[in-house]
Amino acid sequence: MSTASALRLNRRVDAMQPSATLAMKARAGAMRRAGHPVIALSAGEPDFNTPAPIREAGIAAIQNGFTNYTENAGMPALREAIAAKLAADNGLSYSADQILCSNGAKQSVALGIHVLCDAGDEVLIPAPYWVSYPEMARFAGATPVTLPTSVHDGYRLTPEALDAAITDKTRLLVMCSPSNPTGAVYTPDELAALAAVVRAYDGLYVLSDEIYEHVLYDAEHRSFAALPGMQERTVTVNGFSKAYAMTGWRLGYLAAPAPIRDAAAKVQGQFTSAPSSISQKAGIAALEMGPGPVQEMVAAFRQRRDYVLERLRALPGVTCPEPQGAFYLFPHIADVLGARTPDGTRIESSEDLCFYLLEHCHVALVPGEAFGAPEGMRLSYASSMEDLETALDRITEGLNALR
Ligand code: PMP
Ligand code: GLU
Repeated sequence: MSTASALRLNRRVDAMQPSATLAMKARAGAMRRAGHPVIALSAGEPDFNTPAPIREAGIAAIQNGFTNYTENAGMPALREAIAAKLAADNGLSYSADQILCSNGAKQSVALGIHVLCDAGDEVLIPAPYWVSYPEMARFAGATPVTLPTSVHDGYRLTPEALDAAITDKTRLLVMCSPSNPTGAVYTPDELAALAAVVRAYDGLYVLSDEIYEHVLYDAEHRSFAALPGMQERTVTVNGFSKAYAMTGWRLGYLAAPAPIRDAAAKVQGQFTSAPSSISQKAGIAALEMGPGPVQEMVAAFRQRRDYVLERLRALPGVTCPEPQGAFYLFPHIADVLGARTPDGTRIESSEDLCFYLLEHCHVALVPGEAFGAPEGMRLSYASSMEDLETALDRITEGLNALR
C-alpha cells in the first residue's frame, strides 16, 4: 500500500529550512485574501514599477520573436554590458567570458557556493545574514559557520572576529554590503582590513553579494574584488531586482575568475540554462539607463528610513542603528522579550513577537531567528509612506499593550 510515509526525499532537501522571507510574504498574502488588512513589511522588494524603457525592451523582444534559448551563459551583448558596468561603477576588470547571467542573483549566489564548497568545508557567514546563505551552504554539503556581529558595532564583522573563526576547513566567506537584513555598509577601510585577513589564508575565497550597491545613504560602496589581491579570490554577485525594480524578471549575474565562472556555467547548463531571453533584452535596456532609476528610488527610501527609524527608536525596549544602505531596518528587541501580550501569552522569542504583530496588529515582519539573530527582527521599508505610517501606528499600539 502506498502512503505518504513511504515517500523518501533527498536528505539535504529534508534538512532545508524554507525561505522565511518568502514564507512571511505568502502568509501575509493569505491573510489579506482572507479579508484581514495586513500590511506586509516582510519581503524586500522595491515598491516601484520597472522603468518604462526596460518594460518596452521586454515587450519589443516578445514582439520581435526574440523568444528562443540564448547562449547558456547569457547573451554576449548583455555580458559585455555587464562587464562595462562593472568597470565603470566598480573599477573591476572582467571580460564578458568571466560573467554568467542567471535566473536572479539568488541563483548566482547558489552557483557560487556550490562550485566552491564541498562536504566538510566551512562557510563563514556574518550574522545577521540573508536567510538563504546558510541553507545553500548546507545543500552543498558544507558547514555554515555563523559569525555573530553586534548591534553596538553597527552589525559589522571585525577583522579580529574573522581571523578567529578561520580554520583549516574554511573555504568561503560570504559578504553582503549593503546588508540585507541590517542595512549596514562597510567602509572601504573596513573592507580593506577584512581583505588583509583573507589574503593571509591560501585557498580562502569570498562571495560578495552586492545587490544593494546603489541603495546608499551618505555611504560609499566598494566592491570586494576591487581590493588589492581580491579579484582572484572573489565571486562578485549582483542583479537587476533591486537597482531597476525587476524582481519578477529574474535576472542576476556573477563575475569570477574563469575556472569558477566556467564551473558555474556548467552547472547552470545542466540545471536551468540561461535566464529568459526577454529578461535579458530588458537587462540590456536597464544597463543603458545607468544607475539613474535607482537613485530616484533611493530619495524615497531615505525619507522612509528616517521616518521609520524615528518611530522605532521611540518604542519601549527597542534600539536600532541607523542603516547606511539597502531598505531594511533590523531593530534590536531583546528588551521586549519576556513581556506578556494582553491575553497573557509570554513573548519568548522574535518569532513570538512577529506572530503577535501579525495576528493582533496585522503587520508582517520577519523574525530575527531566520537571519541568525534572534534578538532582532527585520522590517522592509520598501512600502508606501501611507502604509508605513499605519504600520508604525499599529506596531506602537501593539508594543505599548505588552505588559
Ligand atoms: N541577495 C540578497 C542579499 C537579496 O536580498 C536578494 C533578494 N532576494 C538576492 C540576493 C536575490 O535577488 P534576486 O534573485 O531577485 O536577483
Ligand atoms: N530579497 C528579498 C528578501 O530578502 C526577497 C525574498 C527572497 O528572495 O528571499 O526579502
